[in-house]
Amino acid sequence: SPLTIRKIPSPHTAIITAQGERRNPLLKHGLVAATGAASALGRIAALLDERREPTPLQRRLAALGRVLAAVTLALCVLVFALGLVRGLPLGTMAVTAISLAVAAVPESLPAVVTLALALGARRMAARHALVRRLPAVETLGSVSVLATDKTGTLTEGRMVVQHVWTPRVTAELSGVGYEPDGEALVAGRPAEADELEPLTELLTVTALCNDATLRPADDRRPDDRWTALGDPMEAALLAAAAKTRCPGPAELAATRPRIGEAPFDSLRRRMTTLHRTGGDGVLVCMKGAPEAVLDPAVLLDPPDALAAARREAARLAARGYRVLAVASGARNDIPSPVTTAESGLALLGLVALSDPPKPHAAATLASCRAAGITPVLITGDHPATARAVASHIGLLGDDETEGRVVTGADVAAGRVADLTSVRVFARTDPQQKLDIVEAWRARGAVTAMTGDGVNDGPALRRADIGVAMGARGTEVARQAADLVLTDDEPSTVVAAVEEGRRVYDNIRRFLVYGMAGGAAEILVMLIGPLLGLPLPLRAGQILWINLLTHGLTGVAMGAEPAPPGAMHRPPRPPDQHIIGGGAWQRLLLLAAVVTAASLGAGLAAQALDLAWQSVLFLALLSAQLGVALGLRSRLLTKENPFLPLSVLASALLAAAALYVPFLNPILETEPLGWAGAGIALACAPAGFVAARVVRTAFHPGDPAGTGGSSGLR
Ligand code: ADP
Ligand code: MG
Repeated sequence: SPLTIRKIPSPHTAIITAQGERRNPLLKHGLVAATGAASALGRIAALLDERREPTPLQRRLAALGRVLAAVTLALCVLVFALGLVRGLPLGTMAVTAISLAVAAVPESLPAVVTLALALGARRMAARHALVRRLPAVETLGSVSVLATDKTGTLTEGRMVVQHVWTPRVTAELSGVGYEPDGEALVAGRPAEADELEPLTELLTVTALCNDATLRPADDRRPDDRWTALGDPMEAALLAAAAKTRCPGPAELAATRPRIGEAPFDSLRRRMTTLHRTGGDGVLVCMKGAPEAVLDPAVLLDPPDALAAARREAARLAARGYRVLAVASGARNDIPSPVTTAESGLALLGLVALSDPPKPHAAATLASCRAAGITPVLITGDHPATARAVASHIGLLGDDETEGRVVTGADVAAGRVADLTSVRVFARTDPQQKLDIVEAWRARGAVTAMTGDGVNDGPALRRADIGVAMGARGTEVARQAADLVLTDDEPSTVVAAVEEGRRVYDNIRRFLVYGMAGGAAEILVMLIGPLLGLPLPLRAGQILWINLLTHGLTGVAMGAEPAPPGAMHRPPRPPDQHIIGGGAWQRLLLLAAVVTAASLGAGLAAQALDLAWQSVLFLALLSAQLGVALGLRSRLLTKENPFLPLSVLASALLAAAALYVPFLNPILETEPLGWAGAGIALACAPAGFVAARVVRTAFHPGDPAGTGGSSGLR
């Protein structure tokens, strides 16, 4: 609905009135606390503005490109010079050397990388992970630490109020979900009227100090259930209020309209609202974390009453409940700012909510560990609640350090020497999330961090991979993130990691294939003349080979599926060279085999008085196509039909180069008879077998055969 700005008292404050339909009775005025660059979103935007460092992949590829360019250039100059020495015409040698330079450099690398990343992003989207920055796809593959929050990520986030404690009575609430069906039980029997009164008073305050809405089930759809709009915890409080026959939302809005609020944020850990109660009367309603509310600066209650409430809160938290303390007060003026009303209040009691861990949270953490990713829990919740949930899902280890729950206060007081030794952090504030990410990054870890709140923005930016919750999270968190989970499931991060590893493996596979081919072409040109094959390949032939190998088949490699063991090996070491971990040895061996096979074919053809150059041309191509197929980690998979299809297309185009008459003069080829074609095609199995053997060489334990992530860190 249209909003008009009524008055602007300061550059950063404006009162906004909604003039359209007023379905939400609370939505009459909006207070703009900050605009533009001063707003929370603006601050994130400023962070976004910072130039991002290039990703590890970008740095690695740039370094490789420089080396490759230098080496290729030097070798091509050598081929050129040797040709001139042998008395070949200058023009021929110049064209040949330039073609060779073009062919030897895997120039389709940017295309392969972009395609592999884009396909990865598409597959991730199909698995409920939206990538906001393309390079993040590959970074995901090397994630070694997953820092997650608790509520709604590891737990259901569908909360239910289980216990209500007041200094006078303790009650259990029956019922499940957000349905208002259920009642308050005191010692197992329905609460009597005088017992219900303090409960109703408390839950009315939590219904007032509340921004959620419950949407009733649709009667026409039998399976429909009540759903929550807004914070699930606040929705659970509304459901509890309905169970104890508190006034409904419409009645509360009419009799006690909200006139001010100090919203919840994870630094203050409490929320306060002001309500008009008739005449000058103002009701102050507060709810928040027990430490933030059970404070003599906030409450007027005597010290022993506070101590009793604190004991009760600790007891409930240790049982895994999320605990809120509730207080209220009456006054005759409208305090400004609202936070000045946060004193002199009276304690009403405690609410304990259960938030069960997701059924597969434990399995997700186990698969993280199998993939060499360390899970870390960072929550704003109470340490006892964090401990209960963490041990339930198997996140807390048994020994001294791994079994420790550290609080934000411990961190702030410098009681934690090494932040990376802790697996569970409780009562943290957003700045500490940042510190934890920094500590891991300083140790060379690649971090993924989940978050949903406005304050999580900076930490999401700082982490190598910021993960925002699509359904539950704030817009700010989504803007700051690299990855948005549309299903809010942590297992989706694990799926995205798998896709990232696949992308990296494919880029490396392409490099092994493409660089081995390029090296073979240079070697053939260098060694051929020594064996009596002057100018082994013509410029046109070199470019044709280049088109079919680096172009067609190379690009198709970008879509290869992940090897079976991709998630059962540790992440690749962040400092591993892109063709490290055995890849460069592989590519040199493959280059040697391809060179030997094609030169052998050329020599055999020469001895048999066949068109040896055309045989050599076809041999070099077949050997490389054999390598392309042999490098697959799942030989017969149907997942990437493009590779076998592109090999087939390349084979047809190779045949065309020989047998389509108008191409013969352009490429300087001659049609081959059975003998010549047979000799050349025999090189295909040679390339294939070499690739199969080389896959397992150097790192037998590496199932990818690309050396992708082998070796211990
Ligand atoms: P997390 O999402 O990791 O569980 P939060 O930072 O959201 O942690 O919450 C920290 C604490 O603040 C909670 O344990 C709870 O006691 C309190 N809290 C959370 N949400 C609200 C709210 N809407 N109003 C008042 N207090 C809240
Ligand atoms: Mg939260």
